[in-house]
Amino acid sequence: MTSAPARRHAIDLDDFSGDEIEALLETAESMKEVLAREIKQVPALRGRNVVNMFYEESTRTRISFELAARALSANIVNFTARGSSVEKGESLVDTVRTLQALGADIVVMRHSQAGAPYLAAQHFRGSVINAGDGRHAHPTQALLDLFTIRERLGQVRGVQVVIVGDIVHSRVARSNLWGLTRMGAHVTLCAPPTLLGPAAYWTATWPEVRVCHRFDEALAGADVVMALRLQKERQQAGLLPSLREYTRRYGLTPERLERLGERTLIMHPGPMNEGVEIAPEAVVAPNAVIEAQVTNGVAVRMALLYRLAG
Ligand code: ASP
Repeated sequence: MTSAPARRHAIDLDDFSGDEIEALLETAESMKEVLAREIKQVPALRGRNVVNMFYEESTRTRISFELAARALSANIVNFTARGSSVEKGESLVDTVRTLQALGADIVVMRHSQAGAPYLAAQHFRGSVINAGDGRHAHPTQALLDLFTIRERLGQVRGVQVVIVGDIVHSRVARSNLWGLTRMGAHVTLCAPPTLLGPAAYWTATWPEVRVCHRFDEALAGADVVMALRLQKERQQAGLLPSLREYTRRYGLTPERLERLGERTLIMHPGPMNEGVEIAPEAVVAPNAVIEAQVTNGVAVRMALLYRLAG
C-alpha cells in the first residue's frame, strides 16, 4: 500500500498528493469489503466522537458520513443549525469551541459560505472534514468520483472526463479538478459562458484543462461524462435564457445518450434535476454509475475518517 504523511484536516484536495489519494482509494477498497460483510462494522474508531455539522441541507453526504462513522464504531452526533444555539446568534467559532469542549474528535462540516470549514479548523484541536462549502470545495465527493472511475475503468490516468453544466456554482467541479488532474485524467469543462465564469480562471488554475462551450464537441472521445446539477438556489437573474434551451444545448438527452454508446460512464453527484441536465433514460442507462457513486461514498468516507483518526 502507498503511504503518505499524517493529515489533520480535509478542506479540499488541493493539498493532497497523488500518492495520498491513491492510498486513500486503496483503503476505501478495503472498507468496501467491510461493507459487503454481513456485519458491516470494524472497531477502528471505537470511542471516537464524530459530529456531523450541517448548516446546509443534504441527504447523501450527511447519511453517508453517519454510516461511515458507525461502520468504524465511532460515536456520531448530528448537529443541525436549526434548533441549535446558532438560532440565538452563536457564532461558528463559538459553536466549534463548544463541540470541542463536549469532546468532539472530528467535525464534518457543510456550510453555504465558502471557507467556513477552514475557519472552523483554525479553532478546533481535532480534525475538520469539509462536506461542501459554498461554491468552493467538496473533497469527499471528488474522492468518491475518483474511486468510482478507478473501479469501473481500472484507472484514472489517461481517462477523458467531461464535466458539464453549472460549473461556476459547483464545488464538485472544483474539487474534482484537483483530484482528476492530480491523478492524471484529461478534463474538459463544458458550459454556457454564463455558467462557466471566466475561462482564464480555470485554465490559469489547472493549465491542463480544456474549456469548451459545445457539448457535442466536448463529448467526442469521452470516457466519463459528469453532469452537474443546475443549482437553482445559487442562480442569479440572466444566467440562463430558458431551461428548455439549456437542456437542448447542455443536457444529457436521449439523443446524446444514444450517440455516446455503452462505453462512456455517466456520473452525477446528485441531487438530480431529471429532464433538465440529465434525461431519465440516462439515469437508468447500463453505463450510468450514479448509484454506485452513492454506495462508494460510504467506503471513501470511512477511509478518510480512518486516516484522520490515525
Ligand atoms: N450534492 C452536491 C453538493 O452538495 C452536488 C449538488 O448539490 O449539486 O455540492
